[in-house]
Amino acid sequence: MKLFDLHCDTIYECCETGKHLRENDLHINYAAAHRYQPYVQFFALFCGARQPYSPETRDCLLDTPADERFGRMLTTARREFAANADWLTFCRSAADIRAAVEAGKAAALLSIEGAELLPDRPDALDYVYDAGVRLITLTWNYRSRYGCSSAVDQNEGLTELGKQLVRDCGEKGIIVDVSHLSDRGFQDVCEATDRPFVATHSDSRVLCRNSRNLTDEQFAEIANRRGLVGVNLYTPFLVRQSDSVIDDAIDHIERFIGMYGEKVVALGCDFDGCDTLPIGIDGLADMYRLADRMLTLGYKQETVDGLFYDNAFNFMQKML
Ligand SMILES: [Zn+2]
Repeated sequence: MKLFDLHCDTIYECCETGKHLRENDLHINYAAAHRYQPYVQFFALFCGARQPYSPETRDCLLDTPADERFGRMLTTARREFAANADWLTFCRSAADIRAAVEAGKAAALLSIEGAELLPDRPDALDYVYDAGVRLITLTWNYRSRYGCSSAVDQNEGLTELGKQLVRDCGEKGIIVDVSHLSDRGFQDVCEATDRPFVATHSDSRVLCRNSRNLTDEQFAEIANRRGLVGVNLYTPFLVRQSDSVIDDAIDHIERFIGMYGEKVVALGCDFDGCDTLPIGIDGLADMYRLADRMLTLGYKQETVDGLFYDNAFNFMQKML
C-alpha cells in the first residue's frame, strides 16, 4: 500500500542520539518503510528547543546558535539520506517525487519545525531553500522572533518578521505550516497570503480540546484554500485520556472528511516526535492497520487512498 506522511522527527532523533535511519528502534526505519510503495516522507529539521528556554517569557532560546543547530540537523539528514540511497531518494520538487516513485524508491522531503531554526542571515530563506527545505512550520511550542505558539498564548500572533516570512515563503515556493501556531497567528497567516497552506500534524479541537488542534473554522479555511491537514496520531491530541485506539484517530479523520475534507485530509503521524500512539500502532510499520480498519468500517478504497497518499501527493504536485 501507499503512504505519504507530512511530519516526523526521525532526523532529530538520529541527530541527538546518533541512531541511523536504516536500522533503529525508532518509529521509522527501513524495515517499516519497505512495507509501503510508494512511500513519501517529510522529515523535519527540528528547532529542538527543549532546554534551555526562558521560563518567564517562554521565549525560545536555542541551546546552540540557529546556524550551528540547522547545520547539524542538515548534516544528519544528508548523511542518513546518502547512507540509504539504495532505497530512498532526497527530493526537492514534484518531479523528483514522481521520479523516485517511478524508480521504486521512497521519497524524502525536508521541512523545518520552528522558524527560529532559520539561520540568522539576510538570505536565510534562500539558504534553506537551496539546502532542500520545502516546508516551514512557523512555530514550535515557544515564542520566537517570528511569532507565538499555541502553547504560549492563543491571542498573540505573528510578528512583522513572521508575516514577512509567510509572504517570502509564498514567493520562494516554500509551503507554510500552521501546526503549533497560535489562533491569532493562524489569522495572521490568512491575512498575509492568499495561497493554500497546511497544518501538517494537527487534529480536531471539537473532538479533543487541545490548543494544538484545529477549530472547525480553521479547518474550513484550509479546505477552502485547497490546503492540506495531516492527522496526528499523538494520543493527547486524539483524546483527553492516557490511552487511545485506532478508532479515535478515525473519529478525527471523519470529522474533517465530513467538512468537505475528502481531498484535504492527509496523514501527519508525528512519528518519533510523540511517545504515545493508538493501541496497535507502534510506528510506521503498523499504519496498514489504520487502512484496514477504515475499510472494515465501510470507507471506500478511494477515501483511504486519498487520506494515505493521493491528497498529499496531488497537493505537492501543485505546490512544489
Ligand atoms: Zn510538532
